[in-house]
Amino acid sequence: MRNLMIIMSVLALIGCQAVPVNQPVHNAQSSNNPAVAFTVEDVGDGIYVHHGAHLDIDEGYQGDICNLSFVVGSKGVAVIDTGGSLKVGQQLREAIRKVTSLPVLYVINTHVHPDHIYGNAAFLADAPQFVGHDKLANAMETRREQYQKLNVRLLHADAAGSELVKPTMIVKDQLTLDLGDRTLALTAHPVAHTNTDVSIMESKAGTLFAGDLLFIERTPVVEGDINGLIAELEKLKASPAKQVVPGHGPVTRQWLAALNNAQHYLNTLLTDVRVSIKKGLSMESAMESAAATEKNKWQLFEVANRRNVNTIYPALEWE
Ligand SMILES: [Zn+2]
Repeated sequence: MRNLMIIMSVLALIGCQAVPVNQPVHNAQSSNNPAVAFTVEDVGDGIYVHHGAHLDIDEGYQGDICNLSFVVGSKGVAVIDTGGSLKVGQQLREAIRKVTSLPVLYVINTHVHPDHIYGNAAFLADAPQFVGHDKLANAMETRREQYQKLNVRLLHADAAGSELVKPTMIVKDQLTLDLGDRTLALTAHPVAHTNTDVSIMESKAGTLFAGDLLFIERTPVVEGDINGLIAELEKLKASPAKQVVPGHGPVTRQWLAALNNAQHYLNTLLTDVRVSIKKGLSMESAMESAAATEKNKWQLFEVANRRNVNTIYPALEWE
C-alpha cells in the first residue's frame, strides 16, 4: 500500500493571497483544480510522484497536467520534470523541502513539452545540473516564442517568471548519475514521442521513469514519429524495472500491460490511418474514424486522437 501524502503547499497559499477573490475567472482551471493543495505520492524507497490532472492543453490547462517526480538519494535529490510554470515548479520544490533538506543535485527533463519544463526556473537557486537530451536545448530555443505565447494565453498571471532553463548536462546516448545509495541511468531515445525523449532507470527500487514514451489512462500522444514510438515502447519491455512512472497517469507495477496498451492504441491508429490513405479518404475523415475501437479506453480521446492523426497522416501519405 502506498501512502498518499498530502502536502499543503505554502506557495499555494501565497498564490491564493496573490489572487483577489473578486478577480474574474479566465478559464476553467479554478473549478477543476482549486489551488489548495499540491499532493505528492510517496511511492516508497525515496521516490515521490506528483500527479497532474488529465486536462488538455487547450482546455483548462493550468500548467499542472503531467507527472513530476523526485528521487531522494543519500547524497541528494534528483527532480524529474518540473511542471508547466514557475509556480508549479515552486510548489514541487516546496514539497521536496518538506521531505528532505538534502541538496537538489539534478533537474532532469524527459522532453521538451511545455508541461514538463517550465518549472525548471524554480530550481535555479539550488544550482543543480539541468539534464536533458542532446537535442533538448535546440528544441527549447526553436519553440521559445510559440511556448511563451501559449503560456501567456493559457496560464495568464501564472505564466510570469516561467523562463526557459536549458540543460547544462547532455545525454547523448547513456548517462549515469550518482545519488549516493543509488544511481540513475539515463537513456536518450531516437525520435519517438518527440525528438528529445529521455527515460530514467533508478537502481535501488527498480523504478523506470518513462516520460511521455508511456501514457496510462490518458490518450498517448505522438509528435515525433509513430513508428519510432512503437519501437521504443518495445525496447522498454526489456527493462529490469519493478515499477514504472509514466509521463501521465498512475505509477504501476503492471507496466508490461501498460506498455502493451499504449502500443495497441498506436498500432491501431497507424493501421487505420494507412487504410484511410489507401482508400483515398481525407485527413478530416481519418480523424473521425481512426482508432475508433480504442475510444472508450482512453481519456481525452477525441482531441488527442485527432491531433495524432493530424501529425501522422501527412507523413504516412508519402510512405
Ligand atoms: Zn509530452
